Amino acid sequence: MDSLLELEHLEVEFDTWDGRVRVLDGVSFSLAAGETLGIVGESGCGKSMTALAIMGLVPTPAGHITGGSIRFAGEDLVRAPQARLRQLRGNRIAMIFQEPMTSLNPVFTVGEQIAEAAREHLGLSGTESRHRSVEMLRAVHIPEAEKRVDEYPHQFSGGMRQRVMIAMALACEPQVLIADEPTTALDVTVQAQIFDLLQELRETKGTAIVLITHDMGAIAEMTDRVIVMYAGRRVEEGAVEDILDRPAHPYTRGLLACRPQLQLGKGAVRPALREIPGVVPPLHLLGRGCAFAERCPDAMPRCRDERPVETVVRAGHAAACWLLDERREAA
Ligand code: SF4
Repeated sequence: MDSLLELEHLEVEFDTWDGRVRVLDGVSFSLAAGETLGIVGESGCGKSMTALAIMGLVPTPAGHITGGSIRFAGEDLVRAPQARLRQLRGNRIAMIFQEPMTSLNPVFTVGEQIAEAAREHLGLSGTESRHRSVEMLRAVHIPEAEKRVDEYPHQFSGGMRQRVMIAMALACEPQVLIADEPTTALDVTVQAQIFDLLQELRETKGTAIVLITHDMGAIAEMTDRVIVMYAGRRVEEGAVEDILDRPAHPYTRGLLACRPQLQLGKGAVRPALREIPGVVPPLHLLGRGCAFAERCPDAMPRCRDERPVETVVRAGHAAACWLLDERREAA
């Protein structure tokens, strides 16, 4: 499949009180038209920074893209001028964030906010852009769209506000939609509705989706392929069924083990919750070896000294872990 969006060895660094810190370290992936790619990992793994880099929104002056490339439809976004990035943002590449109240402006109606993107990028008139707002609210299944287009964000429930964000993001029919933890603040029923909506939009509009989440359940439900990130690095990539059935990296196995499981026993139903011990290390303290070594149940002496190189596990599935090397040598 041809790539619509392609990241190659992307590096992002920040100037901090502790010196220059690399927050993305050689991240690569590609996304084809109409595909859904999941990016999974704990907080602080670099998922959201990857999204911000694609959108040209790495916070400045502290943050810098220091290496690698981001290509969209063949165009190099890292070297593109800000004016060009503004043209693409919200138009051909759009993003929805996890907390709609921080992204929606409370003093404008939702209709005005959806119409703004349509006016700016599609050159629609005032009347046309209002029609577009109503059409988009209908597309995301907001009832009585003609009436609610004139309401303010605080008049919508959390789930409905997230639908409004999706309507805004899709107003210009982008080719790529980046959804950064789009359902984190919502209850389970509304989460399922938002995922159904994203699936429907992908099928009807052919939008490629990058779903950023810490939730392996959402990955299983929504995505075709997944990349697992840890401490700013890609540690595993593969087709979603393959990753779920046969994870190769101990961190991926840990994430999968953290999914809530129901235990049935003596009439009681209680969730068995597991966790990966420890936390993601501060990035300025990373040693030269594997970033996961301090938390890894399989760590070997070599892991602390040498950074693991990515190895093909099987077709379309790769992971960066010295265990793969050991197994190959033992075979
Ligand atoms: Fe664990 Fe070593 Fe693999 Fe890192 S390289 S995940 S420490 S076994």
